[in-house]
Amino acid sequence: MLYLSTRGDPQRRHFCDILLEGLAPDGGLYLPEHYPQVDAALLAKWRALPYADLAFEVLSLYIDDIPADDLRAICRKTYSQEVFGTREIVPLKKLHEGLYLEALSNGPTLAFKDMAMQLLGNLFEYELARRGEQLNILGATSGDTGSAAEYAMRGKRGVRVFMLSPHGRMSAFQQAQMFSLQDENIHNIAVDGVFDDCQDIVKAVSNDLTFKRRYKIGTVNSINWARLLAQVVYYFAGYFQATATNAEKVSFAVPSGNFGNVCAGHVARMMGLPIERLVVATNENDVLDEFFRTGVYRVRASADTHETSSPSMDISKASNFERFVFDLLGRDGERTRALFGDALAQGGRFDLSADPAFAQVAPRYGFVSGKSTHADRLATIRDTFDRLGVMIDPHTADALKVARGYLQAGVSMIVLETALPIKFAQTIVEALGREPDRPARFQGLEQLPRRVTLMIPDAIAVQAYISQNCR
Ligand SMILES: *Cc1c(COP(=O)(O)O)cnc(C)c1O
Repeated sequence: MLYLSTRGDPQRRHFCDILLEGLAPDGGLYLPEHYPQVDAALLAKWRALPYADLAFEVLSLYIDDIPADDLRAICRKTYSQEVFGTREIVPLKKLHEGLYLEALSNGPTLAFKDMAMQLLGNLFEYELARRGEQLNILGATSGDTGSAAEYAMRGKRGVRVFMLSPHGRMSAFQQAQMFSLQDENIHNIAVDGVFDDCQDIVKAVSNDLTFKRRYKIGTVNSINWARLLAQVVYYFAGYFQATATNAEKVSFAVPSGNFGNVCAGHVARMMGLPIERLVVATNENDVLDEFFRTGVYRVRASADTHETSSPSMDISKASNFERFVFDLLGRDGERTRALFGDALAQGGRFDLSADPAFAQVAPRYGFVSGKSTHADRLATIRDTFDRLGVMIDPHTADALKVARGYLQAGVSMIVLETALPIKFAQTIVEALGREPDRPARFQGLEQLPRRVTLMIPDAIAVQAYISQNCR
């Protein structure tokens, strides 16, 4: 399997060449040259597999430069009961007939980003050892991504993490999760500023090419193809748990921000998994809902990006969306470049409403969408708890709210649960008047000693810190 860029660069690459990279050199995103097809016989065989072996089967279709035994060992080490808390790894919870929650948030940091990041940690360690190289991951986080990256990379040989976060602005639980890590290769840098300051520093450091090369600076953001690929697996696992035979179809509802999660659903559907609909749920930051309703994709300015009670979906643009548009336009790299490179840079928007391709978004690709607000989240959390006895987090609530508008007789709806309520206690208290349940292993988390360096928002200071800590 070879990989191409969504913007037409003629060069093809192997999986391990793009594993440690972000964007393609032409600014596009990587996709496989084609989607391997899964037929009924293969689905029937996969249905019986434990999660780690299912992951191996799916990944094998896309990775031809890691020996099979090594890849199987990496999958088994990653998707274990010790790491994810259950034998099923992504257990399905029935809410009522035809409506399920798929639990993607039982990993170390209690958010679905662990599903991909834990695999990435093991793949990075493997590939860096094979090349005899080192990597320094520099990132900015306002919550889930940073902690998932740190818990995936802690103790890994050849990798250091430098994670910037806005001082005092993450939830108390998220701060405690990150700052209590004592591993020598994990560096928490609390920046005296807001999230945008952190991101600006990461950009400034990455644009200093001499520094970047000298210190082997890399990233783990959501456009990384390996992260997306890891997420394809749980669409298969959810389907097998919700159905008895391969003649059945299901729909998925996905709380969406950067379009990484639901893009993995798109890939699974393109492979032939019997998915009826992919329901894209947004919060007040409705860039994606607007596109699926109108055909207009309009990037928001930071001033128009709302801080909401489902903060991991607070985006101004959806970084992975380009992958779907590339497929929608018949994989036309020139047009994709014109839209995402030129039109967005010039006017911050493009309009596909008059393009025949846009009419295919629902019938051919299964995409529908909806939006959920703070009031919707509170009402959905309350209703789900009162009537069904299940406590859900605000992101999952957005998806459940939107999913309810798309229920169809005879097609099970699987709502992806992307975080546990304990991560967003304040909103749970607002909705239910009580604290969320806390898993036993997180008792006393906030009292643990902390390892964090406070810094002014200054790229030079961060560069100095990195060079001091790379020996
Ligand atoms: C990151 C995140 C999302 C959004 O996922 P995307 O892949 O960016 O669409 C939703 N919910 C939670 C809890 C998250 O951490």
